[in-house]
Amino acid sequence: MTMRKERWKYMLIIGSHISFSKGYEDMGKQAVELGANTFAFFTRNPRGGSIKALDVKDAKRFVEFAKENNFGKIVAHAPYTMNPCAQKEELRKFAKEAMAEDLSRMENIPGNYYNFHPGSHVGQGEKIGIEYIAELLNEVLKSDQSTTVLLETMAGKGTEIGKSFEQIQQILEKVELQDKIGVCMDTCHIWDAGYDIVEDLDGVLKQFDEIIGLYRLKAVHLNDSMNVRGSKKDRHAKIGEGMIGKETLVSVINHPLLKGLPFILETPNEIEGWKKEIKMLKEEYKEK
Ligand code: FE
Ligand code: FE
Ligand code: ZN
Repeated sequence: MTMRKERWKYMLIIGSHISFSKGYEDMGKQAVELGANTFAFFTRNPRGGSIKALDVKDAKRFVEFAKENNFGKIVAHAPYTMNPCAQKEELRKFAKEAMAEDLSRMENIPGNYYNFHPGSHVGQGEKIGIEYIAELLNEVLKSDQSTTVLLETMAGKGTEIGKSFEQIQQILEKVELQDKIGVCMDTCHIWDAGYDIVEDLDGVLKQFDEIIGLYRLKAVHLNDSMNVRGSKKDRHAKIGEGMIGKETLVSVINHPLLKGLPFILETPNEIEGWKKEIKMLKEEYKEK
């Protein structure tokens, strides 16, 4: 695996989760209000799965707006209810259909990212879970899609798949359309899974590179964690208010191997809190 070229001289690409309730263009405007140049949004009700009617004109207006405002890539998020490796067939079917529909919609805002949780194997075992996830991706991904689908690194709560770089790689290597997939690394999740980004960020990234390949890393979820390393809890904290701490998270945005990636805040905040975090991170960012 080759180390990706160091990404110097990039602007910080930073944003938070934004509500899709008023459509695409409105999300762009909300992002600018926050001082952001990217964002994440749930493609459908995150805890249910219902989807808003599609407004193609609104999507077009957003694409223009994003260009005019120099946005980086947007990181859409699949709903939590989607479990690609569920034991029940109808749940896997929902995951497949929902992802297929989401990806076809994503073509209205082409060239962005779509990130999803690999899911929980609910007792069937990792091996079967990994098979199911790869199977679903092989059925849903299309050679002509412009969206890159990102597997998210998980904390390992319950029977979650994706708690180790090895598990992520085992899924990735089973996917046929290799240029349509990548990884979204969540700092809270990898910390909770046991990766020591506080004492050895370089070492963790080296492991990522050796096992998965840093060229696969397309986005970062920038979160602090309420719990100790290895807790497998997955409870996000505000930047600097958790066990990872501000210093480490600032070194994540400034790491030469991570520059140029979109950083998405999933911190427990409202508008004002995100504004403050974005402002602080911009101040701490070294554009060099
Ligand atoms: Fe997530
Ligand atoms: Fe996340
Ligand atoms: Zn999480």
